[in-house]
Amino acid sequence: MSAWPRFKFYGTPRIFFQAAGDILGGRIHQGDDVARLEAEIARLTGRRHAVATPQARVGLYLILKALLTGSERRKVVLSPYTIYDVVNMVVCAGGMPVFADVDARTGNLDPDQVAALADGDVAAVLVTHLHGVMADLGRLSAICEAAGIPLLEDAAQAFGGRWQGHPAGGVGHAAMFSLGRAKNINCFYGGVVITDDDVLAGAIRAEMADWPDLATPFLVKRIVHCAIIALAVSRAVFPWATRHVFRVLAIRGERKGAALFSTERNPVLRRQLPPEWQRRLTPMQARMALDQLRGAEADQIHRLRLARLYHDGLADLPQVGLPQSLPGAEDIFMPFPIQVPDRQACQEHLLNAGLDVVVQHIGNCADYPVFAPFHRDCPQARQLAKSVLLLPTYPGYPEAEVRRIVRAIRDFFKAPPES
Ligand SMILES: *Cc1c(COP(=O)(O)O)cnc(C)c1O
Repeated sequence: MSAWPRFKFYGTPRIFFQAAGDILGGRIHQGDDVARLEAEIARLTGRRHAVATPQARVGLYLILKALLTGSERRKVVLSPYTIYDVVNMVVCAGGMPVFADVDARTGNLDPDQVAALADGDVAAVLVTHLHGVMADLGRLSAICEAAGIPLLEDAAQAFGGRWQGHPAGGVGHAAMFSLGRAKNINCFYGGVVITDDDVLAGAIRAEMADWPDLATPFLVKRIVHCAIIALAVSRAVFPWATRHVFRVLAIRGERKGAALFSTERNPVLRRQLPPEWQRRLTPMQARMALDQLRGAEADQIHRLRLARLYHDGLADLPQVGLPQSLPGAEDIFMPFPIQVPDRQACQEHLLNAGLDVVVQHIGNCADYPVFAPFHRDCPQARQLAKSVLLLPTYPGYPEAEVRRIVRAIRDFFKAPPES
């Protein structure tokens, strides 16, 4: 039975063995590996500073807090098509989120919208490279430069991407990467901030100086949780059991409008950084991340090959919106996002054909009731929030499955099979 899950954790199963060894050997908090990881990320991205953080979102908070301190400016212009805690970090840092609509071709900030909002109260523009699809950094940099506003990059999903030869995160004033469990460098929880600004890097390090390491019980719990999920989506279990559960839950859930597997389903407004987030990445996690950096390029080549197959297999379907790479962009497609008119029916069609795919549960933050004070009408983001379906590109995902997905989507839209 060929049946492949919608996702796989990067770095597994290897990082589970690394974790078990470090936990049992009492080495979670031992070693100079955090500094080694920081040096390696700084080298790979060509930046003067890389600072490890407990999560990417906390990195964003620290950047914004430093930029807002001593500034009269309060507005932070950002895409509403992102995870809600990104918006919360602006609020926690003392900023005022201003949503700018996205360009449907990339799903990322539309430079024209940003230009219209770039006034003298804007402290920063935050661009997100969602799904590893690069935003228009050329135009956004020009707009920000002309207005004297720092451009920040949310590169949480874009490690390894490039813009005109520059690494993702290496174009703006500062950027953050995520090392969380859903990302392409996965140490279960974590992030890294990069910048060339000595003062900013110093301020971030000073703010974190008193924070303790992530606690051992917290990490053990999270790793065990991930191990259970990894087992459920493993080749030994998924084809026989999990896929049926996923299919039934997905169909029932989506029909009821309940996103069962989403962390985005209950947005909350945060005004203060939760104290339990004020932690530091551990040396154990830094070792895992360093280890995975070595395989990152091979993973990327695989993703790009699958993305090409999806693209070429679906390009002639008028109903399917494909992500568009801008000139000079090297996207990393993690995963491959497509836009379809009735995504729920399309997902059901694929699930019933034995193909496990997931809808993108990120919503349009500009429309969330908890963010009502910051509401702005963002029709493109609203449309994307109900039409994006995610196609797998992870390491080991077979080309034959990609071809089956392409065939099933063509079949759903009653298009002839690929020639
Ligand atoms: C995952 C993600 C984040 C947050 O990363 P954490 O490490 O979980 O804080 C921020 N922005 C985007 C676009 C993400 O996908």
